[in-house]
Amino acid sequence: MSDKRTEIGEIGEFGLIDRLHEKIKVRHADTLKGIGDDAAVLDAGDKVKVVTTDLLLEGVHFDLSYAPLHHLGFKAVAVNISDIAAMNAIPKQITVSIALSNRFAVEAVEALYAGINAAAEHYNIDVVGGDTTSSRSGLVISITAIGEVEKGKEVYRSGAKENDIVCVTGDLGGALMGLQVLEREKEVFMANPNMQPQLEKYTLVTGRQLKPDARMDIIHELRELGVVPTAMLDVSDGLASELFHICKQSKVGVTIYEDKLPIDKQTYDTAVEFNIDPITCVLNGGEDYELVFTIDQNDFSKLEKHPDVHFIGHITKAESGKFMVTKSETAVELKAQGWVHFPEGGKSS
Ligand code: ADP
Ligand code: MG
Repeated sequence: MSDKRTEIGEIGEFGLIDRLHEKIKVRHADTLKGIGDDAAVLDAGDKVKVVTTDLLLEGVHFDLSYAPLHHLGFKAVAVNISDIAAMNAIPKQITVSIALSNRFAVEAVEALYAGINAAAEHYNIDVVGGDTTSSRSGLVISITAIGEVEKGKEVYRSGAKENDIVCVTGDLGGALMGLQVLEREKEVFMANPNMQPQLEKYTLVTGRQLKPDARMDIIHELRELGVVPTAMLDVSDGLASELFHICKQSKVGVTIYEDKLPIDKQTYDTAVEFNIDPITCVLNGGEDYELVFTIDQNDFSKLEKHPDVHFIGHITKAESGKFMVTKSETAVELKAQGWVHFPEGGKSS
């Protein structure tokens, strides 16, 4: 190691992964895709296996003062299943590793597992192992998920081509607004513990934050309709950031239209209440765990009437850049804000 010290905030999370990736060698021919997509892809005969892992830390990714353990268990599974879905694969198994401080009683761990088991039932997967250890910094949960898909039907970030249509499922920005509401109510409660949190108005957005659902329903429907997206990711860091990944890996550009972006009324109203631009919320809010994918124009008619798939734009040549056409018909350049996990000198989000 040289003496040079580079702050992680200088290169960011993606910059760091890129830098580590450069020094990692692939040694086996059955490693079809290593680092760089929503999941790794491994050759398994007429199928491929996909593998993904996610780490959730108390105080960084969740706050137990408002996240019930049951929901947290469900969410920890769902965020992994979302990455399996993003490969167009069907999840089969998970392993669950936890680190616990002595703050946690057996009953608390059982409540966490009730959520994990509920998710296992919901996504039809088996919990096949894991690891348990102690922690000095609260609760840590790491889940690895394994899925499979017929070879050739797996979908990478790199397959989008010019004129493909950009699709988004569900609606976006809800999870970010849910977080804002939960953080605000927590502050109010800390200042005055006699105040009861006012959450009834916000159940949709807080639900999106606390208990997201991976869009496996969409993956099953795409199969039934005979549609294989050309590229796909799940929205974990924010739509703009995910579109940047598609553009970088597919070597294309993109144009999306502000008036096509899906936002729920409650998300919109909450954003306005918090003085946040609803469109910023849709473009940069993370953790929605919806799917963003591109399809060939020939597949449009198969999806056209789908009530929960929105067509937000199209893929262009790389030289055309990345733009959003606003409601007033001006093209503004897209910025990949995303979640900043390592802000310079700041608190991790
Ligand atoms: P996602 O948001 O879909 O979970 P990430 O942005 O976390 O994806 O990761 C992007 C890619 O980098 C994935 O292929 C992931 O497996 C890989 N990756 C992330 N962190 C590391 C690490 N510390 N070492 C090796 N690979 C990593
Ligand atoms: Mg992902």
